[in-house]
Amino acid sequence: MPLQKSWVESANTAETDFPLNNLPYGVFDAGDGTMPRCGVAIGDMIFDLCKAESNGLVEIGGAAVFDVPSWNNFMELGPEAWADLRRQLTDLLGEGAEPRSDYLVSQADVTMIMPITVAEYTDFYAGRHHATNVGTMFRGAENALPPNWLSIPIGYNGRASSVVVSGTEVRRPWGQLKGPDEALPRFEPCKRFDLELEFGAIVGQPSEGPVTVEEADDMIFGYVLLNDWSARDIQAWEYQPLGPFQAKATATTISPWIVTKAALEPFRTSTPERERELLPYLQEPRAMNYDVNLEVALAPENLVETVIARTNVKELYYSAAQQLTHHTTSGCPMQVGDLLGSGTISGTEKDSRGSLLELSWSGKEPIALDGGETRSFLEDGDTLTLRGGAQGDGYRVGFGDCTGKVIAALADPFAR
Ligand code: CA
Repeated sequence: MPLQKSWVESANTAETDFPLNNLPYGVFDAGDGTMPRCGVAIGDMIFDLCKAESNGLVEIGGAAVFDVPSWNNFMELGPEAWADLRRQLTDLLGEGAEPRSDYLVSQADVTMIMPITVAEYTDFYAGRHHATNVGTMFRGAENALPPNWLSIPIGYNGRASSVVVSGTEVRRPWGQLKGPDEALPRFEPCKRFDLELEFGAIVGQPSEGPVTVEEADDMIFGYVLLNDWSARDIQAWEYQPLGPFQAKATATTISPWIVTKAALEPFRTSTPERERELLPYLQEPRAMNYDVNLEVALAPENLVETVIARTNVKELYYSAAQQLTHHTTSGCPMQVGDLLGSGTISGTEKDSRGSLLELSWSGKEPIALDGGETRSFLEDGDTLTLRGGAQGDGYRVGFGDCTGKVIAALADPFAR
């Protein structure tokens, strides 16, 4: 399918993240004292859905769903409503429709806020090259992948309360640190603060009991870029035997626009070839992953940014649908607004690694930035930006920026 044209001129370029083919959903604050409201990105503008609904331009299921600053109520209506809204918006914003500029707001003039109320947050570990790199660093090349890794999409239950929207500053955490040669831990600000480049899936339908991979795919509403900020020194001391805890609880940043599953449909691709056959319940009935280019950029305070990694969502060994299926095997109920992080996505090349832990090989090989600085881990003042997009024929289905700036740790929070 080629670029679909809109009467919003800025949506008709090959470079924009937000052509008519995309139509991603967010919540914006116009800064004029009105309540934040739901909108859809088109070119460099936002179409005000709250206003469109209240004036009868858009109607979903007879009752108002866009009069709240969150997409949860709409997600709850289910896949038929999701398809219905996309049809209505494609008609309203398409080239032949009556231009309704009074429903547009410039993206440059608003602040994006969280698009959903996150019900619960689970983070997986589905990137094979990341798991192999980290395993090699910590356990040696012979034991790089844990024995369960090729059979189970491994994950841990994170904290919904720690999920923030792009643009939110992230404060360097304090925690227990202990070097390998030290007898006792210290309580200090994290020295090895890191990013993790991930793809986030947003669950739009609830479940009770186990669901198949096909059913799981139907439950997913859309996707965001996700940065799982990680304190490596805290993690190294705390993670055995129950996995990450405070190392991952400072913040997780998501991009403000939810790119719908419908917009990504042309970019479906299968997960990589299996090295070990999966149990039947986890097997892919059809292509369940996506071809989405990703990049990470790092900008020290007052300096230009450097792209430090490029990779692709298709590197994931388990799709979000497979992760979700596995999540329900215990009977664990899923809720509207659940967020699933994919795990760090790294490729096979050195410059395709999705964390500084891997890029600097645990600090042994600092990376060079444009402007002369080097980095092993994040410094105060560093701004980290994730970008992503699927490349169509003359158009791009993009995610917008997922950005966060690292700010200095507090003074000792327990000092007396
Ligand atoms: Ca992670």
